[in-house]
Amino acid sequence: MDEGQGLNLYDVVVAGGGTAGLSAALVLGRSRISCLICNGGEVRNATAPEIHNYLSREGLSPQEFLKIGREQIANYPSVEFSEDLVAAAVAEDNSFRIELASGRPVLAKKLILATGLEDEIPLIEGMRERWGISVLHCPFCHGWESRDLAWAVYGNNGKAVDLCLMAKGWTDRITLCTDGVAELTAAQRKTLRACGIAVRESRVVRLEGDETSLERMIFEDGEDLECQAVFLRPVKKQRSVIPNSLGCAVNADGLILVDENGATTAQGVFAAGDATEPVLQVLAYAAFSGVRAGIGAAKSLFSERFA
Ligand SMILES: Cc1cc2nc3c(=O)[nH]c(=O)nc-3n(C[C@H](O)[C@H](O)[C@H](O)COP(=O)(O)OP(=O)(O)OC[C@H]3O[C@@H](n4cnc5c(N)ncnc54)[C@H](O)[C@@H]3O)c2cc1C
Repeated sequence: MDEGQGLNLYDVVVAGGGTAGLSAALVLGRSRISCLICNGGEVRNATAPEIHNYLSREGLSPQEFLKIGREQIANYPSVEFSEDLVAAAVAEDNSFRIELASGRPVLAKKLILATGLEDEIPLIEGMRERWGISVLHCPFCHGWESRDLAWAVYGNNGKAVDLCLMAKGWTDRITLCTDGVAELTAAQRKTLRACGIAVRESRVVRLEGDETSLERMIFEDGEDLECQAVFLRPVKKQRSVIPNSLGCAVNADGLILVDENGATTAQGVFAAGDATEPVLQVLAYAAFSGVRAGIGAAKSLFSERFA
Protein backbone atom coordinates (compact mmCIF):
# COMPACT_ATOMS: atom_id res chain seq x y z
CA MET A 1 0.00 0.00 0.00
CA ASP A 2 1.27 3.52 -0.88
CA GLU A 3 0.14 7.02 -0.13
CA GLY A 4 -1.76 8.96 -2.79
CA GLN A 5 -3.24 12.45 -2.24
CA GLY A 6 -2.55 11.88 1.47
CA LEU A 7 -4.79 8.78 1.43
CA ASN A 8 -3.97 5.08 1.58
CA LEU A 9 -3.55 3.87 -2.00
CA TYR A 10 -4.13 0.18 -2.67
CA ASP A 11 -3.53 -1.63 -5.92
CA VAL A 12 -6.95 -3.24 -5.52
CA VAL A 13 -9.95 -2.76 -3.27
CA VAL A 14 -12.27 -5.77 -3.16
CA ALA A 15 -15.84 -4.92 -2.15
CA GLY A 16 -17.45 -8.01 -0.61
CA GLY A 17 -15.81 -10.69 1.49
CA GLY A 18 -17.87 -13.74 0.53
CA THR A 19 -16.55 -16.63 -1.51
CA ALA A 20 -16.01 -14.53 -4.64
CA GLY A 21 -14.24 -11.66 -2.88
CA LEU A 22 -12.05 -13.93 -0.75
CA SER A 23 -11.06 -15.97 -3.81
CA ALA A 24 -9.99 -12.77 -5.57
CA ALA A 25 -8.07 -11.62 -2.48
CA LEU A 26 -6.26 -14.97 -2.28
CA VAL A 27 -4.96 -14.55 -5.83
CA LEU A 28 -3.93 -10.95 -5.14
CA GLY A 29 -2.15 -11.84 -1.90
CA ARG A 30 -0.20 -14.60 -3.63
CA SER A 31 0.68 -12.10 -6.40
CA ARG A 32 2.18 -9.62 -3.88
CA ILE A 33 -0.43 -7.03 -4.84
CA SER A 34 -1.65 -4.67 -2.14
CA CYS A 35 -5.32 -5.30 -1.53
CA LEU A 36 -7.95 -4.09 0.90
CA ILE A 37 -10.90 -6.47 1.17
CA CYS A 38 -13.99 -4.90 2.71
CA ASN A 39 -16.93 -6.91 3.92
CA GLY A 40 -19.94 -5.09 5.29
CA GLY A 41 -22.66 -7.62 5.99
CA GLU A 42 -23.94 -11.16 5.71
CA VAL A 43 -23.26 -13.55 2.84
CA ARG A 44 -26.25 -14.77 0.86
CA ASN A 45 -26.29 -18.26 2.37
CA ALA A 46 -25.67 -17.05 5.95
CA THR A 47 -28.79 -18.71 7.40
CA ALA A 48 -28.10 -22.15 5.92
CA PRO A 49 -26.71 -24.61 8.49
CA GLU A 50 -24.48 -26.33 5.92
CA ILE A 51 -22.96 -25.82 2.50
CA HIS A 52 -23.16 -28.46 -0.21
CA ASN A 53 -21.73 -29.13 -3.66
CA TYR A 54 -18.34 -27.62 -2.87
CA LEU A 55 -15.80 -30.38 -3.17
CA SER A 56 -13.97 -31.21 0.09
CA ARG A 57 -16.11 -28.76 2.13
CA GLU A 58 -19.38 -30.77 2.20
CA GLY A 59 -21.49 -30.01 5.29
CA LEU A 60 -19.37 -27.17 6.70
CA SER A 61 -21.32 -24.17 7.98
CA PRO A 62 -21.04 -21.08 5.74
CA GLN A 63 -19.35 -19.23 8.61
CA GLU A 64 -16.70 -21.95 9.13
CA PHE A 65 -16.10 -22.13 5.37
CA LEU A 66 -15.37 -18.39 5.20
CA LYS A 67 -13.33 -18.44 8.41
CA ILE A 68 -10.94 -21.02 6.94
CA GLY A 69 -10.64 -18.88 3.81
CA ARG A 70 -9.88 -15.72 5.79
CA GLU A 71 -7.31 -17.51 7.96
CA GLN A 72 -5.48 -18.82 4.91
CA ILE A 73 -5.48 -15.42 3.18
CA ALA A 74 -4.15 -13.76 6.35
CA ASN A 75 -0.82 -15.50 5.61
CA TYR A 76 -0.26 -13.08 2.73
CA PRO A 77 0.96 -9.72 4.08
CA SER A 78 -0.21 -7.59 1.15
CA VAL A 79 -3.88 -8.29 2.00
CA GLU A 80 -5.65 -6.15 4.59
CA PHE A 81 -9.16 -6.98 5.89
CA SER A 82 -11.80 -4.46 6.87
CA GLU A 83 -15.24 -5.12 8.34
CA ASP A 84 -16.49 -2.02 6.59
CA LEU A 85 -19.07 -1.45 3.90
CA VAL A 86 -17.91 0.22 0.71
CA ALA A 87 -20.38 3.10 0.79
CA ALA A 88 -19.35 4.83 -2.44
CA ALA A 89 -16.79 4.56 -5.21
CA VAL A 90 -16.00 7.27 -7.72
CA ALA A 91 -13.69 6.91 -10.73
CA GLU A 92 -10.96 9.59 -10.82
CA ASP A 93 -8.09 9.71 -13.32
CA ASN A 94 -6.75 6.14 -13.36
CA SER A 95 -7.92 5.36 -9.83
CA PHE A 96 -10.99 5.10 -7.63
CA ARG A 97 -11.79 7.17 -4.57
CA ILE A 98 -13.59 4.86 -2.19
CA GLU A 99 -15.58 5.92 0.85
CA LEU A 100 -16.02 3.31 3.55
CA ALA A 101 -19.10 3.43 5.77
CA SER A 102 -16.88 4.28 8.75
CA GLY A 103 -15.97 7.49 6.92
CA ARG A 104 -12.48 6.35 5.96
CA PRO A 105 -11.58 7.31 2.36
CA VAL A 106 -9.06 5.22 0.39
CA LEU A 107 -7.75 5.15 -3.16
CA ALA A 108 -7.49 2.08 -5.38
CA LYS A 109 -6.03 1.52 -8.83
CA LYS A 110 -8.52 -1.30 -9.52
CA LEU A 111 -11.80 -2.26 -7.97
CA ILE A 112 -13.30 -5.74 -7.72
CA LEU A 113 -17.03 -5.92 -7.01
CA ALA A 114 -18.01 -9.13 -5.25
CA THR A 115 -21.00 -7.72 -3.44
CA GLY A 116 -23.48 -10.51 -4.16
CA LEU A 117 -27.25 -10.55 -4.36
CA GLU A 118 -30.12 -10.16 -1.93
CA ASP A 119 -33.18 -12.44 -1.96
CA GLU A 120 -36.62 -10.93 -1.47
CA ILE A 121 -38.43 -13.46 0.70
CA PRO A 122 -42.26 -13.31 0.43
CA LEU A 123 -43.83 -11.60 3.44
CA ILE A 124 -45.55 -14.69 4.79
CA GLU A 125 -45.52 -15.40 8.50
CA GLY A 126 -42.88 -18.01 9.31
CA MET A 127 -41.04 -17.81 6.00
CA ARG A 128 -38.11 -15.51 6.70
CA GLU A 129 -36.96 -17.30 9.87
CA ARG A 130 -36.94 -20.61 7.97
CA TRP A 131 -35.00 -19.25 4.97
CA GLY A 132 -32.04 -21.50 4.18
CA ILE A 133 -33.24 -24.15 6.67
CA SER A 134 -36.67 -25.46 5.65
CA VAL A 135 -37.59 -22.71 3.16
CA LEU A 136 -35.14 -23.23 0.33
CA HIS A 137 -34.29 -22.03 -3.15
CA CYS A 138 -32.25 -24.77 -4.77
CA PRO A 139 -32.86 -28.53 -4.83
CA PHE A 140 -29.28 -29.10 -6.00
CA CYS A 141 -27.99 -27.42 -2.82
CA HIS A 142 -30.61 -28.76 -0.38
CA GLY A 143 -32.70 -31.46 -2.07
CA TRP A 144 -30.73 -34.39 -0.67
CA GLU A 145 -31.52 -33.44 2.95
CA SER A 146 -35.24 -33.25 2.04
CA ARG A 147 -35.42 -36.32 -0.19
CA ASP A 148 -38.73 -38.21 -0.14
CA LEU A 149 -40.28 -35.61 2.20
CA ALA A 150 -43.41 -33.60 1.37
CA TRP A 151 -42.43 -30.43 -0.57
CA ALA A 152 -44.53 -27.36 -1.20
CA VAL A 153 -43.29 -25.39 -4.19
CA TYR A 154 -44.31 -21.75 -3.74
CA GLY A 155 -44.85 -19.62 -6.84
CA ASN A 156 -47.27 -18.73 -9.58
CA ASN A 157 -45.39 -18.72 -12.87
CA GLY A 158 -43.44 -20.87 -15.31
CA LYS A 159 -40.38 -20.85 -13.04
CA ALA A 160 -42.44 -22.45 -10.26
CA VAL A 161 -43.69 -25.11 -12.67
CA ASP A 162 -40.09 -25.83 -13.76
CA LEU A 163 -39.10 -26.08 -10.10
CA CYS A 164 -41.93 -28.60 -9.50
CA LEU A 165 -40.73 -30.77 -12.37
CA MET A 166 -37.14 -30.57 -11.14
CA ALA A 167 -38.29 -31.47 -7.62
CA LYS A 168 -39.40 -34.87 -8.96
CA GLY A 169 -35.72 -35.82 -8.85
CA TRP A 170 -35.84 -35.84 -5.06
CA THR A 171 -39.41 -36.62 -4.07
CA ASP A 172 -42.81 -37.63 -5.43
CA ARG A 173 -44.65 -35.68 -2.72
CA ILE A 174 -44.93 -32.25 -4.37
CA THR A 175 -47.70 -29.62 -4.22
CA LEU A 176 -47.57 -26.35 -6.14
CA CYS A 177 -48.93 -23.53 -3.93
CA THR A 178 -49.75 -20.50 -6.07
CA ASP A 179 -50.92 -18.22 -3.22
CA GLY A 180 -53.92 -16.99 -5.25
CA VAL A 181 -55.64 -17.93 -8.49
CA ALA A 182 -53.15 -19.96 -10.53
CA GLU A 183 -51.81 -18.17 -13.59
CA LEU A 184 -50.91 -21.34 -15.42
CA THR A 185 -51.45 -22.30 -19.04
CA ALA A 186 -53.55 -25.32 -19.91
CA ALA A 187 -50.35 -27.08 -21.02
CA GLN A 188 -48.66 -26.40 -17.67
CA ARG A 189 -51.68 -27.73 -15.76
CA LYS A 190 -51.68 -30.83 -17.93
CA THR A 191 -47.96 -31.44 -17.32
CA LEU A 192 -48.37 -31.02 -13.57
CA ARG A 193 -51.34 -33.41 -13.55
CA ALA A 194 -49.38 -35.96 -15.56
CA CYS A 195 -46.57 -35.76 -12.98
CA GLY A 196 -48.96 -36.20 -10.06
CA ILE A 197 -48.36 -32.66 -8.76
CA ALA A 198 -51.41 -31.07 -7.12
CA VAL A 199 -52.06 -27.30 -7.32
CA ARG A 200 -53.34 -25.37 -4.26
CA GLU A 201 -54.62 -21.90 -5.16
CA SER A 202 -55.77 -20.64 -1.77
CA ARG A 203 -53.85 -17.71 -0.22
CA VAL A 204 -51.03 -18.77 2.07
CA VAL A 205 -51.36 -17.35 5.58
CA ARG A 206 -48.40 -18.82 7.47
CA LEU A 207 -45.94 -21.66 7.96
CA GLU A 208 -46.01 -23.70 11.13
CA GLY A 209 -43.55 -26.07 12.77
CA ASP A 210 -41.21 -26.49 15.66
CA GLU A 211 -38.79 -23.53 15.64
CA THR A 212 -37.14 -23.49 12.18
CA SER A 213 -38.35 -26.93 11.13
CA LEU A 214 -41.54 -27.06 9.09
CA GLU A 215 -44.67 -29.16 9.56
CA ARG A 216 -47.42 -27.45 7.59
CA MET A 217 -48.54 -24.56 5.45
CA ILE A 218 -51.78 -22.86 6.52
CA PHE A 219 -54.14 -21.40 3.93
CA GLU A 220 -56.66 -18.58 4.13
CA ASP A 221 -59.55 -20.99 3.50
CA GLY A 222 -58.70 -22.75 6.79
CA GLU A 223 -57.16 -25.80 5.09
CA ASP A 224 -53.57 -26.84 5.65
CA LEU A 225 -50.92 -28.81 3.80
CA GLU A 226 -48.46 -31.12 5.48
CA CYS A 227 -44.96 -30.27 4.23
CA GLN A 228 -41.42 -30.45 5.58
CA ALA A 229 -39.83 -28.17 2.98
CA VAL A 230 -40.89 -25.18 0.90
CA PHE A 231 -38.97 -24.45 -2.28
CA LEU A 232 -39.28 -21.15 -4.11
CA ARG A 233 -37.43 -18.91 -6.54
CA PRO A 234 -37.30 -15.51 -4.82
CA VAL A 235 -36.80 -12.27 -6.70
CA LYS A 236 -33.14 -11.26 -6.41
CA LYS A 237 -31.52 -7.87 -6.59
CA GLN A 238 -27.99 -6.47 -6.37
CA ARG A 239 -26.98 -6.11 -2.72
CA SER A 240 -24.96 -3.00 -3.50
CA VAL A 241 -25.69 0.13 -5.51
CA ILE A 242 -21.98 0.54 -6.37
CA PRO A 243 -22.10 -1.43 -9.68
CA ASN A 244 -24.89 0.84 -10.87
CA SER A 245 -23.21 4.03 -9.65
CA LEU A 246 -20.04 3.11 -11.58
CA GLY A 247 -22.05 2.49 -14.75
CA CYS A 248 -21.33 -1.25 -15.05
CA ALA A 249 -23.56 -2.69 -17.79
CA VAL A 250 -25.99 -5.39 -16.66
CA ASN A 251 -28.11 -8.02 -18.40
CA ALA A 252 -31.94 -8.16 -18.39
CA ASP A 253 -31.86 -9.73 -14.90
CA GLY A 254 -29.70 -6.92 -13.52
CA LEU A 255 -26.55 -9.09 -13.33
CA ILE A 256 -23.21 -7.39 -14.10
CA LEU A 257 -21.75 -8.26 -17.49
CA VAL A 258 -18.10 -9.39 -17.37
CA ASP A 259 -15.65 -10.54 -20.02
CA GLU A 260 -13.36 -13.58 -19.93
CA ASN A 261 -11.03 -11.71 -17.50
CA GLY A 262 -13.81 -10.72 -15.13
CA ALA A 263 -13.66 -7.10 -16.38
CA THR A 264 -16.90 -5.11 -16.39
CA THR A 265 -17.72 -2.45 -18.97
CA ALA A 266 -16.46 0.22 -16.52
CA GLN A 267 -12.72 0.88 -16.93
CA GLY A 268 -10.66 -0.65 -14.10
CA VAL A 269 -13.66 -2.36 -12.49
CA PHE A 270 -13.80 -6.16 -12.25
CA ALA A 271 -16.62 -8.24 -10.81
CA ALA A 272 -17.26 -11.77 -9.58
CA GLY A 273 -19.77 -14.07 -7.94
CA ASP A 274 -23.55 -13.97 -7.79
CA ALA A 275 -23.59 -10.27 -8.71
CA THR A 276 -22.33 -11.12 -12.20
CA GLU A 277 -24.00 -12.81 -15.12
CA PRO A 278 -23.36 -16.33 -13.90
CA VAL A 279 -23.08 -19.78 -15.23
CA LEU A 280 -24.71 -20.77 -11.92
CA GLN A 281 -25.31 -18.94 -8.65
CA VAL A 282 -23.31 -21.37 -6.53
CA LEU A 283 -20.22 -21.23 -4.33
CA ALA A 284 -18.06 -23.03 -6.88
CA TYR A 285 -18.88 -20.40 -9.51
CA ALA A 286 -18.23 -17.62 -6.98
CA ALA A 287 -14.80 -19.12 -6.26
CA PHE A 288 -13.98 -19.57 -9.95
CA SER A 289 -15.10 -16.10 -10.95
CA GLY A 290 -13.33 -14.55 -7.92
CA VAL A 291 -10.07 -16.16 -9.03
CA ARG A 292 -10.75 -14.96 -12.57
CA ALA A 293 -11.34 -11.37 -11.43
CA GLY A 294 -8.25 -11.49 -9.19
CA ILE A 295 -6.07 -12.66 -12.07
CA GLY A 296 -7.75 -10.18 -14.43
CA ALA A 297 -7.03 -7.25 -12.11
CA ALA A 298 -3.45 -8.45 -11.46
CA LYS A 299 -2.67 -8.83 -15.15
CA SER A 300 -4.09 -5.41 -15.85
CA LEU A 301 -1.88 -3.88 -13.10
CA PHE A 302 1.21 -5.72 -14.31
CA SER A 303 0.71 -4.56 -17.87
CA GLU A 304 0.35 -0.94 -16.71
CA ARG A 305 3.33 -1.21 -14.35
CA PHE A 306 5.71 -2.37 -17.03
CA ALA A 307 4.25 -0.52 -20.02
C1 LIG B 1 -30.14 -20.01 1.54
C2 LIG B 1 -29.06 -20.27 0.54
C3 LIG B 1 -28.27 -21.40 0.65
C4 LIG B 1 -27.28 -21.65 -0.29
N1 LIG B 1 -26.57 -22.81 -0.21
C5 LIG B 1 -25.62 -23.08 -1.14
C6 LIG B 1 -24.88 -24.32 -1.10
O1 LIG B 1 -25.08 -25.15 -0.23
N2 LIG B 1 -23.96 -24.53 -2.07
C7 LIG B 1 -23.72 -23.63 -3.08
O2 LIG B 1 -22.87 -23.89 -3.93
N3 LIG B 1 -24.38 -22.44 -3.12
C8 LIG B 1 -25.31 -22.15 -2.18
N4 LIG B 1 -26.00 -20.97 -2.23
C9 LIG B 1 -25.57 -19.94 -3.20
C10 LIG B 1 -24.37 -19.18 -2.58
O3 LIG B 1 -24.74 -18.68 -1.32
C11 LIG B 1 -23.93 -18.03 -3.48
O4 LIG B 1 -23.70 -18.52 -4.79
C12 LIG B 1 -22.66 -17.40 -2.92
O5 LIG B 1 -22.87 -16.93 -1.60
C13 LIG B 1 -22.18 -16.25 -3.81
O6 LIG B 1 -20.99 -15.75 -3.30
P1 LIG B 1 -20.63 -14.22 -3.49
O7 LIG B 1 -19.28 -14.06 -2.86
O8 LIG B 1 -20.85 -13.81 -4.88
O9 LIG B 1 -21.74 -13.43 -2.64
P2 LIG B 1 -22.01 -13.47 -1.08
O10 LIG B 1 -21.67 -14.80 -0.53
O11 LIG B 1 -23.41 -13.01 -0.88
O12 LIG B 1 -20.99 -12.41 -0.49
C14 LIG B 1 -21.09 -11.04 -0.79
C15 LIG B 1 -20.60 -10.27 0.43
O13 LIG B 1 -20.42 -8.89 0.11
C16 LIG B 1 -20.97 -8.11 1.17
N5 LIG B 1 -21.26 -6.78 0.63
C17 LIG B 1 -22.32 -6.40 -0.12
N6 LIG B 1 -22.21 -5.10 -0.45
C18 LIG B 1 -21.05 -4.66 0.10
C19 LIG B 1 -20.38 -3.41 0.10
N7 LIG B 1 -20.88 -2.33 -0.54
N8 LIG B 1 -19.21 -3.30 0.76
C20 LIG B 1 -18.68 -4.37 1.41
N9 LIG B 1 -19.28 -5.59 1.45
C21 LIG B 1 -20.45 -5.73 0.79
C22 LIG B 1 -22.18 -8.91 1.59
O14 LIG B 1 -22.68 -8.50 2.83
C23 LIG B 1 -21.59 -10.32 1.58
O15 LIG B 1 -20.91 -10.60 2.78
C24 LIG B 1 -27.03 -20.71 -1.33
C25 LIG B 1 -27.82 -19.56 -1.43
C26 LIG B 1 -28.83 -19.33 -0.52
C27 LIG B 1 -29.69 -18.12 -0.67
